[in-house]
Parts: sequence; structure tokens; C-alpha cells
Amino acid sequence: MDVGPSVVRRLLEQGFTINEIDIIVLTHFHVDHTADLSTFLFASNYSVDPRTRPLTIIAGQGIHRFYRSLLNVYRWLKPKHYELTIRSSIKGELQLYDIIIQTVKMNHNRESVGVSIEKKKRVVFSGDTDYSKNLIKLAHKADLLVAECSFPETKLKGHMNLEVLDRVVKEARPERVILSHLYPEWDAFKGVLHGPYLLAEDGMEIIL
Ligand SMILES: [Zn+2]
Ligand SMILES: [Zn+2]
Repeated sequence: MDVGPSVVRRLLEQGFTINEIDIIVLTHFHVDHTADLSTFLFASNYSVDPRTRPLTIIAGQGIHRFYRSLLNVYRWLKPKHYELTIRSSIKGELQLYDIIIQTVKMNHNRESVGVSIEKKKRVVFSGDTDYSKNLIKLAHKADLLVAECSFPETKLKGHMNLEVLDRVVKEARPERVILSHLYPEWDAFKGVLHGPYLLAEDGMEIIL
């Protein structure tokens, strides 16, 4: 889910290899969500163990153009030994391997989507978004909602703060909520977060 700066490095630090990833979903194309896509694709061609497994990239509208633009800058990203499938804006649900994936338009920029991933349990990622009825529908009774909550208090257009997230959570009633996409304002946060909220941390593992 999203390939922001350092994601490839973090993945390796957690003991995974990039060849263990079969599906990449991008919530939108802002740099903090896509910077390491080039790293990922480059390493898929030029690592000690070059990729041969198929790879699927799923994102909102414009993903084909975004990918072509990357290739214009970095021609080395074109798959050498594996098959790449790029899918734009899933209609309804998509079953890949044994996972059911759903993407729905969010309230952030033109291509932004929220994502639901289901395999026995259901996890929903808001991506970047402001208050969104679509998010409430998507996150309805999810086992886990990974929500952006950029600021505890400051309200910036296109993003949520705690007050807005509270509204979403009250309506959607997910089992648990992880707050992510945290700006430095959170460092000075003196309040107490009550369940179902949990602040995201690098390397965090959640058992559902
Ligand atoms: Zn964004
Ligand atoms: Zn962002």
C-alpha cells in the first residue's frame, strides 16, 4: 500500500524482499506516497535476484500516464524478466490471488482513492482524504481502518484532523483505527487517545 520515500529500505529492514510483493496499490501520486516506486521497479530489474514473478499495480485514474512518465525519466524501470499489469480505477471488487480489493474515490485530489483489502479480515486504508462519505461506506465495520490524521487540531483542506476523523469513525464504526500520515504537530500532542485509536509507528505490526 503506497510506496513513499524509504519504503523499500523499510521492507528489507523488516526481513522481506521486494520479490515477496505481488500487488502495489497507490492511493494517489503525491511524492510522499510514490517516491520509492522507481526504487522498487529498478530493484526488480537489477538486484542479485531479479524479479520473475508477475507484478500488479493498482491506482486511480491517470496511473498509465504516471507510469509512462516515470519510464520517460528512468528507462531502466521497464520490466526485464517479469510481467507488469497496471490497473486503473477498479469498478466494484477485484479478486487477485485470494485477496479481494476495492478502491473508491476519496476527497483529496483527482486520482485519490481509498482501498479495502479483504482476506478473512478486512482492512481499509483511507489514503489522504478530507471528510468523505465514500470513506464511511468503505470503512463500515472494517476490522481495521488505517486512516490519515495529518494533524491533531489544525484543519487543512484535503486532510483530516482528530475532529473530522471522529465523525468518520462514529459513522463507520470500524473495529480498530490506526492514525497515520502524522505531521510534526503530533509531536506536541498532549491529549490521550482512547480506543479504538492507535498512533502509527514505523515497523508497527498488527495482529488481526
Ligand atoms: Zn496527498
Ligand atoms: Zn500524503
